Parts: sequence; structure tokens; C-alpha cells
Amino acid sequence: MQQSSDSHIIPMTSVNSGKLRAARTDVFYYTDQIVNVVFIGPANAPGWVLVDAGMPGKGGAILRAARSLYGDNPPAAIILTHGHFDHVGSIVGLLETWGNIPVYAHPLEAPFLTGRQAYPEPDVTVEGGVLAKISALYPHEPIDISEVLQPLPADGSVPGLPGWRWIHVPGHTPGQVALFREADRTLISADAVITVRQDSFYKALVQKEEVNGPPRYLTTDWVAAEASVRTLEALQPEIMISGHGTAMEGEELRAGLQALLLNWGEEAVPDHGRFVDRGNE
Ligand SMILES: [Zn+2]
Ligand SMILES: [Zn+2]
Repeated sequence: MQQSSDSHIIPMTSVNSGKLRAARTDVFYYTDQIVNVVFIGPANAPGWVLVDAGMPGKGGAILRAARSLYGDNPPAAIILTHGHFDHVGSIVGLLETWGNIPVYAHPLEAPFLTGRQAYPEPDVTVEGGVLAKISALYPHEPIDISEVLQPLPADGSVPGLPGWRWIHVPGHTPGQVALFREADRTLISADAVITVRQDSFYKALVQKEEVNGPPRYLTTDWVAAEASVRTLEALQPEIMISGHGTAMEGEELRAGLQALLLNWGEEAVPDHGRFVDRGNE
């Protein structure tokens, strides 16, 4: 197995970096620099599940957070919402520690997780300030975890997580998935909807809370991205943990999702850029 050949530590952080917070009694999220990893399962119990694997070089911090919740119990599985570097950055190191536990992702994401295909280079021309500009530094060579990678079950169930289902939310990447638990309407939205303006350096640093569309410089299909937000809004989530930003709940969340959809063209989609201009060429 290998991490991507251009994997390296990215000097980027936020005021919430290093925080481990509870969203439910059995759902926790840890902010690693700017990205969230989610732990699902009651504390101190075996059989928990990790969602996503953080930034490059952060395996130690994720392991410490896991240990504080579950002691030496390794997870039963890892679910990857998608294969962007900030969600898979430390997975190889984690698997070295935990042994080859199964890793699940959508089949459309497999080429990016088995070394076969790289995502398109981020669009540094998109408006969005310094984070879009430095996105050229992000690793984008694919990782290879073919030894442990398995497709999420076609019936929508999530291995190791009874009561949860996965939902295909393409647009940001072809095979991105969200996770939803009907019983208490808990949504893990990945980067389909995020609660911070990822392409504003200031807002990403202070983690100013607002419902936003996916990070602009890496989103390649804005039509699919809008349909995915519509799918998530229709779930009427009670709490949402997104790939970036603080968990949001209740009326603030639902109103934010509605406002995002109402203003999608002006708010979410960049005015110009490689991935939006393509249709006009
Ligand atoms: Zn992403
Ligand atoms: Zn992300």
C-alpha cells in the first residue's frame, strides 16, 4: 500500500484544529488542521467505525483521538467519503497501526484509491483567494490501498454501522458518499455541503459557520453537486457533520440548506473557472 507519491504535510490550520467534539453520544468528530474525521460508536466499546483519514502526516493525532475514545480497540472498518488528499492523507499510516481492516468506498471512487487515476488538478483560477491559489500545492497523485479497499454494499447499508445508510452525492468527486442515520437524522455530508467557506482563507482559519456548497477549486461537476445538495436537504437532517467546519443542527441547518439551494447559482458555483466554463467551450 502507498500514500500518494506527492504526499506531504500542508501548512494550513484553523482555530478548531486538534479539537475532539461529540455530536451525538456515539458520534464524535475530530478536526485535523482544517478537515474533520468522524468516529462512530459508543466510547470505550469495540466495533467502532472511522469515517475519513485526515490530512497527510496526521496519523499520530488521529490515533491519539481514537485512543482517547476507544482505548486500544481498533476500528471494525474505515469508510472513505471520497479520495481527496485531505480525507485520505493519513490512511496508510493508520492501517499500518491497526492492521489491514477493511476500507469501504463507492466503486466510482476506486480508481483514485488504487493508484489508477488522479483527480483533475485543482482549478487555481477560480475566485476564492489564497486557499484556491495554494491548492496547486495539494498532493493529487492517487493513493493505493487496493489490498484493503472494498465497495460499499449496493443495498445502501454501511458495514459495521447498523441503522446507517450511505447516499451517493457526486459532483465534488464522482463517487462521493454521505452517511445518514434515520433514527436521529444524523447526517455526515462529506464535502457535498460544508459549514465553512473553504475558499476564504480568513473564514477557513476562524471557521466562521455558514452552510456552503462544496470547496470550489476541487469540484468538477456543478450540476451533479446541486442535485446532491437537494438530496441531502430532502433528508431534513437534525444535525450535520461536514468534511470541513463545525457541526450544525436544527433550524439553522435546515434554513442554511434551503438558502444554499435558493442561491445556488450566485453563492456556490464560481463565476468562472476551468470546471464551470467547460460547457461553453
Ligand atoms: Zn474533497
Ligand atoms: Zn475536503
